[in-house]
Amino acid sequence: MSKPFASSADMEEKDETLEVLADGVYALTAEGDPNVGAIEGEDFIVAFEARATPKAASDWLEKLREHTDKPIKYLVLSHYHAVRVLGASAFGAQSIIAHENTKKLIVERGKEDWDSEFGRMPRLFREPEGIPGLTHPDITFSDRLEINLGGDRGDLILQYCGRGHTAGDIVAWLPKHRILFAGDLVEAQAALYTGDAFHMDWSTDTLDRVKAFEAEMVIGGRGYVPKGRREVDAAIEQTRGFLTGMREHVKPIHDKGGTLKEAFEATHEALAPQFGEWPIFEHCLPFNVQRLWDEYDGTDWPRIWTMERDREVWRQLQG
Ligand SMILES: [Zn+2]
Repeated sequence: MSKPFASSADMEEKDETLEVLADGVYALTAEGDPNVGAIEGEDFIVAFEARATPKAASDWLEKLREHTDKPIKYLVLSHYHAVRVLGASAFGAQSIIAHENTKKLIVERGKEDWDSEFGRMPRLFREPEGIPGLTHPDITFSDRLEINLGGDRGDLILQYCGRGHTAGDIVAWLPKHRILFAGDLVEAQAALYTGDAFHMDWSTDTLDRVKAFEAEMVIGGRGYVPKGRREVDAAIEQTRGFLTGMREHVKPIHDKGGTLKEAFEATHEALAPQFGEWPIFEHCLPFNVQRLWDEYDGTDWPRIWTMERDREVWRQLQG
């Protein structure tokens, strides 16, 4: 029997929890749905991630407004994926900040990605008709950008750690509280999506740089908020384990001239015992294996996912 496409059959609303991680530091987690956050400056807010639609963003802001009514000056996008950026208009931010590669990727494939993600995860797109169009950042950087939060709140440091989940992921680091917003570079007990990823870079240097912050808390792209060095490192290593597990099972089959389907089945069998029950595992794995296969074929820049290509890969591997 074939499995329903991606997360198209997952229509059950998740419980959302706003956590105050430190004075003026907020995270909203949602049982494996994309996480978002906010950091309070002396007289403004920096929001981290925008969610899939203005309605979904407004639902988050309503919860945030129970804690602070400061205006949102900056909206920071960790990367270009539609479910992270298309709600941007709800924030009324003065500026939208992202990595320079994120800006390029939105121009190159933002529309295709929107259609693809809408088809894969329709539940996240609350009132999709409210999306005014693509989200284009107006402040970009290549390596590092610091925002002074004012008063004695210290700096918020936006840092590029190398290619990973996409070509343009950034993290947000609060040295004062040792809290790291990692976007989709780290997941905490949620499966990884690697369909636009650079598996070799991500599983080595990029995660090493993320780990080097020695954070006391990390807000990953999905899943709960690990607290304390041991839990933080465990989440980072579990993310790495997912990636190295994929590499170990796809490469030998690619090397010996096997098929994509064989690589998918071997990877599924190897990863399912540890990761199979986590959110979006079945949804992501076909796209993940296809992208890793492309990397072993020598395709450095990820191919663009379209609704048609999504369905074709799904039919081939999960059908
Ligand atoms: Zn993503």
